[in-house]
Amino acid sequence: MALDIQDIKTFKIQIAGLVQGVGFRPFIYRMAQEHKLSGWVENRNDGVVILINGTREEAESFRKKILHSAPLASDIETVTLTPHPFRKMQGFLIRNSEDVSEAITEISPDIAVCPDCLSDMKSQAHRIQYPFVNCTQCGPRFSIIRNLPYDRPHTTMDAFVMCPLCRSEFEDISDRRFHAQPVACKHCGPVYSLEERESRTDVLAELLSRVRGGIKEGKVYALKGLGGFHLMCDAFNETAVSTLRSIKKRDGKPFALMFRSLTDAKIHVEISHEEEQLLLSWRRPIVLLKNKSPITPGVADDLSTLGIMLPYMPMHYLLFEALDTNGIILTSGNLSDEPILISNQEAIRQFGHQVEGIITYNREIYNRSDDSVVMVTKNKPQILRRSKGYAPAPIRTYLKTEGIFAAGAELVNSFSMGKGTHVFMSQYIGDLKNFETYQFYQETFERFSRMFRFNPQLLVHDLHPDYLSTRFVNGLSVKNGGIPLLPVQHHHAHIASVMLDQGLDGEVIGFSFDGLGLGTDGNLWGAEVMIAGYHDFKRLYHFEYMPLPGGDRANREPWRMAVAYLYACVGDLFQELPLPLIREAKAADLKNIRNMIDKSLNTPLISSAGRLFDAVAAILGINYRATYQAEAPMKLEAIADRAEKGVYPYEIHQGQVSFRPMICSILQDLKEGIAPPKISGKFHNTLAQLVLELAIRVRKESDLNRVVLSGGTFQNRILICKLVELLFSEGFKIFLPDRVPVNDQGIALGQLAIGAAMRKSM
Ligand SMILES: [Zn+2]
Ligand SMILES: [Zn+2]
Repeated sequence: MALDIQDIKTFKIQIAGLVQGVGFRPFIYRMAQEHKLSGWVENRNDGVVILINGTREEAESFRKKILHSAPLASDIETVTLTPHPFRKMQGFLIRNSEDVSEAITEISPDIAVCPDCLSDMKSQAHRIQYPFVNCTQCGPRFSIIRNLPYDRPHTTMDAFVMCPLCRSEFEDISDRRFHAQPVACKHCGPVYSLEERESRTDVLAELLSRVRGGIKEGKVYALKGLGGFHLMCDAFNETAVSTLRSIKKRDGKPFALMFRSLTDAKIHVEISHEEEQLLLSWRRPIVLLKNKSPITPGVADDLSTLGIMLPYMPMHYLLFEALDTNGIILTSGNLSDEPILISNQEAIRQFGHQVEGIITYNREIYNRSDDSVVMVTKNKPQILRRSKGYAPAPIRTYLKTEGIFAAGAELVNSFSMGKGTHVFMSQYIGDLKNFETYQFYQETFERFSRMFRFNPQLLVHDLHPDYLSTRFVNGLSVKNGGIPLLPVQHHHAHIASVMLDQGLDGEVIGFSFDGLGLGTDGNLWGAEVMIAGYHDFKRLYHFEYMPLPGGDRANREPWRMAVAYLYACVGDLFQELPLPLIREAKAADLKNIRNMIDKSLNTPLISSAGRLFDAVAAILGINYRATYQAEAPMKLEAIADRAEKGVYPYEIHQGQVSFRPMICSILQDLKEGIAPPKISGKFHNTLAQLVLELAIRVRKESDLNRVVLSGGTFQNRILICKLVELLFSEGFKIFLPDRVPVNDQGIALGQLAIGAAMRKSM
């Protein structure tokens, strides 16, 4: 049946979200061609606008198709279809857009190389074996962007002039590289080089063949990645792994591995359907997976999981084609606590004399980012480190966030900036106490402010006056004529972070368990049970205050906290307990700790879940001194017997939970020869049981039924699994964050949420 001309109308489709720099306009163009629709598409500051001629049904099916087949890395927030005054249009055009206001578009995170580009690397004459192949659907984004709008002159690709071939692809609307800003080929783009002590090459075939030989011999290389340098060696060569360990010095953090393929990874780790989706996603995070059997010593000693990722840069694929091994270690190229290195000179200075060679390239990394880390708990992904592939995509909220800067915590820092109703969270920054990391923080603040046209109106920070993030906003306030400041308690921010992430309003029952944060009473908190909303919180229960012998040192030396618990439980007799900890410690050290506690010298009071894990781990002889953050809790989790059903006793008295009865029972179990895995299993059960009991108590007093879990302790999968089952069976609704880490990296989102709520009522 022929269409009546009366049925043809004009419709306007508006799309908001992450729709630029991800191949959106060519996608719309091709779809309009397929559907034989006339009209145009245009980039605007706030998204993409389309005008089409067609019937109501055609327009509606076009809208649906946009939602269902949008480019992978795009993230559509809304698509609206509205009638528009009739306008006769011929053909379909991509219109040039003008930047007319301070409104900003979103910046795409870096995207793993796509299958089409990998096949171009085999078949396209000017891109055979060319490791900088990319298109509108894939390639570097955030790591190369200096400013908006996202055009080549605003990226570190500005140093390379497109050859006529690349330019013709860039300008051809039917080409996959239409307006692909980093478009490049072997005639015009960046190149890799290998710098060895005595020689240097930028011939790719020679580079690959030398690296193949070196890796086979167990050598370590530095490799420039997307967001920074990695250190690389054969994952199955014990000598290579131990050389890499010695380069990383004191740092005992588990190494991440990259496998050639999913099939190769499956030989070593268990992979569920959800985990497989994450491994293969364009974000290509490191996924924490349960290992099937121990891997090479030194990779992830005494842990039951491995951090695995799959190739995501064209160079990774080329390397695996050359290498004999199916798995390489790919760990951050930095010294512990320092930011990942991005400059060639720095990499040569720091690692040049220790590695066999440095594989680098002549394009600058502008925005540094680490590999993100994700795990799956109860079939749901949980982000542990939010960086490459995630940042700087905004977190969309329902709050008015404009002008609010949240400075974050100190140890696992990220900051947040509010724009409209969005929150732009920085990539993972790290421990600000480190000088270079603090510089990275300040520099990233400047860059985000410029890119996102941010003008601070309210500065939210941690209650701790000495955190560098707190000092930073104090300085910023003074410099800018006294921008208002708002201090927020650490554990309140933890709960608010999950509330905003999950879209919760009103009040919730909050469990905030972590290492530590300054409390409103001047003590160190770290296991807090509260009724919380954005405006306020009321602390109802917490772990019994214990002395933290040596202050900050005790955070890195679990044996100190163990001594504090033992002394509290059995008094002076602790020095005669038949524990490996006591046998191996110096008598003078033990006496010293006892004196410090007696005289309250350098023993701040702390109520921390993290330190309780430390104490139990040290009592069981698992870890006395941590070489990386949360080492003792992670190792305690790793040995736990999951089939164990027993629970230890504890006491709840005037809002404080005492674990002295538990510690005494653990000593008794040890005396009876019960193995540490059973004890650890029982310990995990005890915490889960305690949370359930407290949740029930708070529900009785408050009628609240929503339980929010936040803080680093809830990265413990055994604990979460047990808790979710227990709380669910008692009818509670349970909330953990989806879009931000549950650890201190998520704090800035909570600070910002509290800032937005308080400002509204100011
Ligand atoms: Zn591609
Ligand atoms: Zn070219």
